[in-house]
Amino acid sequence: MSWSMTDTVTSSSRPDLRANAPLEKIPLESYVPPAKPSLVGLSRAELSERLADIGIAPPQRNMRVQQLWHWIYFRGASSFEEMTSVSKETRAKLAERFTVDRPEVVAEQISSDGTRKWLLRLPSGDRIEKPHEIECVYIPETDRGTLCVSSQVGCTLNCTFCHTGTQRLVRNLTPGEIVGQVMVARDRLNDWADRDSGGRLITNIVMMGMGEPLYNFDAVRDALLIVADNEGIGISRRRITLSTSGVVPNIIRTGEEIGVMLAISLHAVRDELRNELVPLNRKYPIAELLQACRDYPGASNARRITFEYVMLKGVNDSLEDARLLVKLLRGIPAKINLIPFNPWPGTRYECSDWDQIEKFSEYIFNAGYSSPVRTPRGRDILAACGQLKSETEKLSASERQALRAMAMTD
Ligand code: SAH
Ligand code: SF4
Repeated sequence: MSWSMTDTVTSSSRPDLRANAPLEKIPLESYVPPAKPSLVGLSRAELSERLADIGIAPPQRNMRVQQLWHWIYFRGASSFEEMTSVSKETRAKLAERFTVDRPEVVAEQISSDGTRKWLLRLPSGDRIEKPHEIECVYIPETDRGTLCVSSQVGCTLNCTFCHTGTQRLVRNLTPGEIVGQVMVARDRLNDWADRDSGGRLITNIVMMGMGEPLYNFDAVRDALLIVADNEGIGISRRRITLSTSGVVPNIIRTGEEIGVMLAISLHAVRDELRNELVPLNRKYPIAELLQACRDYPGASNARRITFEYVMLKGVNDSLEDARLLVKLLRGIPAKINLIPFNPWPGTRYECSDWDQIEKFSEYIFNAGYSSPVRTPRGRDILAACGQLKSETEKLSASERQALRAMAMTD
């Protein structure tokens, strides 16, 4: 497999030291909201509170909330001025105290296969701290367009095959920063409701960017409820997939409180190996994880749970693993996604050989599962992504890795 040129360096000089790392890192809650906060990411109830703050009388508030909701989330207005159905006086009051800003786009790259990537800068808590950055990737296919969204800057967990896990900085994104990723993509793709060509470009959302969404549960829930609201952004819950490494207590809550499709990063069929690959398994072992999947509200043959399985050469890719995988998932309405491992400098793993991936896939197929192999997209963006930053500040290896993890979808 060929990856970006910069990946081939220093593979043995920076050993992966995470075997003894603590199970979880503590998120740095250093986010300081801007002096003039954005209304992006607020629920109807929160919008109503803000309207009360600027002195809008109760009888008018509901109507104003409806208007704001429509302008912000349905039309994608990026200033109060555009909101022509709102009185001039109210618009002026709103503009004095608030904005409808989204995260700042610092770079955009368009790949020849149509994949687009945006580098977004978010406020950090401290002037001396590096700005917090995430990337958001859009992957067009013939019958759909998928946007890969992040839930955190970095990740509190330490999966040994994942480069995001090596990042020390961790901060939870706010609902506005999560919804804001979808809004930025709609802006840049000219994909709001009133676009000329009718159909929408972004039809699906996957929470598969940086971070563990179920360790930022409330913000992810609030954001996804806004994204799914059919009077606004309107991407149905069936077209939103949340991927988790297995935060068991929040899996059922995901079904009950958000109602989106679920993907589980399984990657191993025995606890001993999963403890190593996904150390969170020591807290929530495979049997508990699969029980939560059996109990997942709304799972059915029409709404299957996706099990992600990264193919690591000589580690989890034997036909015995495939046999155990099929056995484990018996009785769960499941799909299996095999993901070729994306190597990064210093990793101890290699991607399985292609013929082994095919054999594994065939075994699973013969057992009755469709087993598409997810292929990384936007390779040329990834290879060239160093160009996103200035000449002097090259993209770090972890950022490249996060990008690749994000550039994969069904
Ligand atoms: N934290 C969540 C979602 C983000 S990771 C989770 O772990 O599910 C999205 C997917 O990319 C996960 O299935 C993850 O296991 C996978 N992934 C991470 N690093 C990878 C790599 N180097 N190669 C292939 N897949 C990787
Ligand atoms: Fe975090 Fe997911 Fe990477 Fe694990 S695979 S470190 S949970 S982003």
